[in-house]
Amino acid sequence: MKTEVCIVGGGLVGLSAAIAFARQGREVILLEASDLKPEVPAELDARSIALSYSTIQIFRALELWPELQQNVAPITNIHVSSAGHFGVTRLKAEDCQLDAMGYVIEYHLLIQLLLNVAENEKNIQIITPARVETVEQADDAVKLQYLSANETSTLNTLLLVVADGANSSVREKLGISIETRDYQQTAVIANIKINQPSSDFAFERFTNNGPLALLPLPEQRYSMVWTNTPARAEALAQLSDEKFIQQVYRQFGYRLGLLDSVGTRVRFDLKLTRANQLAAGRAVLIGNAANTLHPVAGQGFNLALRDIGVLFDLLSGVNLQTDVVQSQLDVYQLQRVEDQHQAVNYGDRLVQLFSNNLPVLNHLRAGALAVLDLCPMMKKEVSWQGMGYGPGCSSLMRGVR
Ligand SMILES: Cc1cc2nc3c(=O)[nH]c(=O)nc-3n(C[C@H](O)[C@H](O)[C@H](O)COP(=O)(O)OP(=O)(O)OC[C@H]3O[C@@H](n4cnc5c(N)ncnc54)[C@H](O)[C@@H]3O)c2cc1C
Repeated sequence: MKTEVCIVGGGLVGLSAAIAFARQGREVILLEASDLKPEVPAELDARSIALSYSTIQIFRALELWPELQQNVAPITNIHVSSAGHFGVTRLKAEDCQLDAMGYVIEYHLLIQLLLNVAENEKNIQIITPARVETVEQADDAVKLQYLSANETSTLNTLLLVVADGANSSVREKLGISIETRDYQQTAVIANIKINQPSSDFAFERFTNNGPLALLPLPEQRYSMVWTNTPARAEALAQLSDEKFIQQVYRQFGYRLGLLDSVGTRVRFDLKLTRANQLAAGRAVLIGNAANTLHPVAGQGFNLALRDIGVLFDLLSGVNLQTDVVQSQLDVYQLQRVEDQHQAVNYGDRLVQLFSNNLPVLNHLRAGALAVLDLCPMMKKEVSWQGMGYGPGCSSLMRGVR
């Protein structure tokens, strides 16, 4: 007996894919190596995820939005500026006739919600802890062996969705190679408590050391991602809370009012990992297993959901027992090249251009921001791209299924 869809990995992406396929009427088995009990962090230590407008539309189409909505902070304005220069660009949701350009949610709330939905979905069977150990491709199925409760079990699936993260072992077992790029930059991530209610403004500030992004969170909190050279990031992480807050004032000023306290500072080395193929036979890679982007651009999950949207359309109505699966996965690879390429390029430009302290670049940056602010059409274009509407649009991204 063959399983219709098997998903390996129960992170944000694997769970989202499981729900999408189940809502398409597919029988899904999800194998996850951990026990899937998301930890609840301290209030100021929560990691957060910015959800773009396209992601919200996909969640709407999958009927996940009503519950999520209660836990998010909206972004209605994005304020982009350069420290020490006066050029500023303001992107506004109302210019795109939207209530918000995106929303921010704490990671543990999002994964818990997706898990609750998946556990209550009759078409989804979640097996944990279950670690996939071997993968074998045949024309009519993919054969997996996984270890669960000290026992090895075998499963044959018509479609294998590989969502086992950046160090994907299943990707390796499928013989798919990767490319990596080390940006020689480190992001310092922390939450900040402010002394007034958080606004619905997100900020991107280009400082001499690298971009500093601040995203609103509910309850007087902001989530900060600050890119620096590795040495400076280490120094920032070692500072006392008071001295760290002083550094934020120096680079960012007092736009958020007074900063009350800061949570644990976590460092991430900025690296890009890309699989050289998105599919092989009846297997397809999604999420970090396909592309691990660095956190500065806040795009990894949003890109993965757009991938899921396109897969959803291409496999809609397809009998997975037929060879149409393989040809649709070939189409999928072709269709996703451009959007994925743009997402990677966007992150590259952010890191390379905005982490460079050459005076001429500083002036160009400030000038470009000032010019952009005066061009409503260009601003709209930039806004829609940032919200996920670049090349390729699936039915889920239009909010329907
Ligand atoms: C600091 C930071 C901030 C970010 N901010 C944003 C943001 O604002 N917006 C955004 O869109 N993205 C953001 N991202 C990216 C986003 O977090 C990732 O794109 C997303 O979490 C990737 O999820 P995933 O499910 O692909 O991988 P993972 O979360 O790594 O999940 C993989 C799962 O597979 C399981 N697994 C591994 N091997 C096996 C195996 N052999 N068998 C079974 N299971 C296995 C693992 O246990 C794990 O649960 C950010 C990332 C970071 C680091």
